[in-house]
Amino acid sequence: PTAGYGDHYTRQATSRPEAMDAFWMPFSANRQFKAEPRLLTGASGMFYRSVDGREILDATGGLWCCNAGHARPRIVDAVQQQIATLDFAPTFQMGHPLPFTLAERLVAIAPDHLNHVFFTNSGSESVDTALKIALAYHRARGEGHRTRLIGREKGYHGVGFGGISVGGLPNNRKFFGSLLPGVDHLRHTLDLERNAFSRGLPQHGAELAEDLERLVLLHDASTIAAVIVEPVAGSAGVVLPPVGYLQRLREICDKHGILLIFDEVITGFGRIGKAFAAERFGVMPDMITTAKGLTNGCVPMGAVFVSDGIHDAFMRGPDNMIELFHGYTYSGHPLACAAALATLDTYAEEGLFERAIELESYWADAMQALQGLPNVIDTRNLGLIGAIELASRPGAPGARAYDVFTRCFHREDLLIRVTGDVIALSPPLILDREHIDRIFRTLAHVIAETA
Ligand code: PLP
Repeated sequence: PTAGYGDHYTRQATSRPEAMDAFWMPFSANRQFKAEPRLLTGASGMFYRSVDGREILDATGGLWCCNAGHARPRIVDAVQQQIATLDFAPTFQMGHPLPFTLAERLVAIAPDHLNHVFFTNSGSESVDTALKIALAYHRARGEGHRTRLIGREKGYHGVGFGGISVGGLPNNRKFFGSLLPGVDHLRHTLDLERNAFSRGLPQHGAELAEDLERLVLLHDASTIAAVIVEPVAGSAGVVLPPVGYLQRLREICDKHGILLIFDEVITGFGRIGKAFAAERFGVMPDMITTAKGLTNGCVPMGAVFVSDGIHDAFMRGPDNMIELFHGYTYSGHPLACAAALATLDTYAEEGLFERAIELESYWADAMQALQGLPNVIDTRNLGLIGAIELASRPGAPGARAYDVFTRCFHREDLLIRVTGDVIALSPPLILDREHIDRIFRTLAHVIAETA
């Protein structure tokens, strides 16, 4: 159903080409898009509805966020009821019950020692919050000399200055000056020569974690506050951790008193079959950053999970002292909390995290079957994440995958996402085998056609 508030404005936006001028679209080729727009006006379950009335199968969960599918009635009801009851309440020296309840629900599904939650409005804010907590934590313990932050090449940690500084995507960094000082990077773990077409985790590359030992030698452990990595990197085109890599990072961090932060903005909330990748991989970080699937994407919200040890270091000194000079007007917003609570209920009632595990092998078979298609140089999969890497057209990086993307959308009624020449898939966890068949049948056909 699309009737409602949006309809009138949909007509306004689409009636004249110049009506699209004022919106400066994020991470988009604005002029190209506005010349051939792809507009969505409705959503339900596995499908979007396009402005021209087509039902589009969503193989991207919106943008890695609608893990329970679209417009789920329980979540819709919760948000509608909440806005009519308490639309906003401050959480600075004030409160309302929902963020307390939500935080308690969240820590119940988080790794054991992560018993505290700081709310934000996005993944970017979660990352900057976690980095600030790491720095302030060391200072609170009298180790204020630990100021260095370590990220990784190809890492994506949102677009705040902290996030792009520890991030490792050149285009997200190079336009914005000298970024945060005192940041270094591990090498990325993508290795098409040794690991192409791995099913699940790549076998080779755990030794790349030793980069951290090299940085410790170079900078000295006493200067290093934290390491941040995505357990599975998404925006770089889906990079999976080699078997043993994350375990080794954890060991080296422990040895040197360095905090380990997992950015689980895309892996959180069931994407790879557990609430968090930390659980799936059996590696426990000191903080986890999340957003997206927390509210099923329908209201902006992020959350940073913090260990007892870190939290307790702040809860000292006089009771009337603010322990952390950080927060957002909308931290713990009532609508976001209501959406998140209803989302968690939906995940639990429908067993959606388990569903990702149940479908994983069928999904992996479908991914692997693409091997041998023209220009497909790698497929990567884990849980309900998939990546298909295409050989770039000479002189036109990204063009081949973009071609597949637009044909899928305009002609095949399928929404995928591309980053460079990688097709990234992250469907809602409610999908079934018929959806999987359709996604891969369509992709195989379009990839062959564009060759
Ligand atoms: N961290 C990771 C791993 C992400 O994938 C993203 C977004 O895709 C972010 C952070 C940033 O999240 P947001 O766009 O909500 O700021």
